[in-house]
Amino acid sequence: MNSNQAFYYRNEQLFVEDIAINDIAKQITTPFYCYSSRAITDNFIQYQQAFAKQDTLICYAVKANSNQAILTTLAKLGAGADVVSLGEIKRALTANIPANKIVFSGVAKTAEEIEFALKQNIFQFNIESEPELEQISTIATRLNKIAAVSFRINPDVNANTHAKITTGKAENKFGIPIDKARNIYKKAASLPNIKIQGVDVHIGSQLTEITPFKEAFAKVAELVNALNSDGHTISVIDIGGGLGIEYQANESIPKVTEYAELAYQQLASLKCKIIVEPGRSIVGNAGVLVSKVVYVKKGEQRQFLILDAGMNDMIRPSMYDAYHDIIRVKNSPNSSEQTYDIVGPVCETGDTFAKARKIATCQQDDLVAIKSCGAYGAVMSSAYNTRLPATEIMINQNQWCVIKDRPSYEEYINADKIPAWLE
Ligand SMILES: *Cc1c(COP(=O)(O)O)cnc(C)c1O
Repeated sequence: MNSNQAFYYRNEQLFVEDIAINDIAKQITTPFYCYSSRAITDNFIQYQQAFAKQDTLICYAVKANSNQAILTTLAKLGAGADVVSLGEIKRALTANIPANKIVFSGVAKTAEEIEFALKQNIFQFNIESEPELEQISTIATRLNKIAAVSFRINPDVNANTHAKITTGKAENKFGIPIDKARNIYKKAASLPNIKIQGVDVHIGSQLTEITPFKEAFAKVAELVNALNSDGHTISVIDIGGGLGIEYQANESIPKVTEYAELAYQQLASLKCKIIVEPGRSIVGNAGVLVSKVVYVKKGEQRQFLILDAGMNDMIRPSMYDAYHDIIRVKNSPNSSEQTYDIVGPVCETGDTFAKARKIATCQQDDLVAIKSCGAYGAVMSSAYNTRLPATEIMINQNQWCVIKDRPSYEEYINADKIPAWLE
């Protein structure tokens, strides 16, 4: 079952697996995120099958959606985790993802984070700079641990994606410039308590073409050969994540099989273990954000559909100019259509989900679903405007469960402390 099969209309109602969203909305206050367990599972299994030809560890990129129910679903399927903070390591371990399937990425690993990761014996650190290498060596030596490391190489390729999610160009803050790579491996070999293990690359997110991957993998392969001839033993190639998803129908996105085949063609001869770090392509299309129309407002030139979900719940349109399909939860085949600016309640002009979007005519209190919100949705939410982050639920066939509650206003407000001088 792919995500189109997990989300479908039956009797004019939007269903997720075997449950009508409208029935859930009778019990849960909108807005809420709704994920399909089946869609997540199937997306993960697609990766497992596509990469079966090579020894591959699939490390789900936790930052895409770090809910414990999602991590636990993936852990049970054998997933590893790509983490970027101490908090994410703790999440992965709590979901029973074993430490030896955890890779630690990120440009700013602190001493505290490194120490924790070393004590847990994680699979590897993906190092992004020389000072980080020195820091890891120092801490590992003090703890009498060996740090298994890869270096994240910046291959200077253009991922042709949104500027805010491009990471593999020379001007980006990520990774080690590829022409400096051999020097840093040489340095690593000279430092105590460091075990050189691999090469890592991650060029960006929401890639919709295969060519940038091809260029990056080719550069990695060349580098691995050079490093091996320098006397290092490279046994792991981490190809990162970044495969895009369809946000609009008929977008042409490389298939996971095509992506895996490319990795096989370009890297199999190097006889390394492959790590792949998909985030968005596992969870993105497995979740929707369900929201209610608060008002339909007729402006001078435009009609506004004002939702009870805002940029604090889902920031992708304001942050990345992202396109998300928005559909009415009740789908009457003969319904007329209207063109709306679809906006949220937050006091920011940027709180806009879609401009001049034609969708089925909506009335006050109608439910809509913002599609493809499973990745970089809930995890990027905030309580701006003291709007409490949306509830998250998961559906599994004919069962559903709240997997994250909204905090109460009391909890949220009482987290602030009044200084003694005001008492
Ligand atoms: C964000 C990130 C990923 C996942 O990217 P997706 O586009 O969600 O697949 C993988 N690896 C690293 C290092 C990342 O920063």
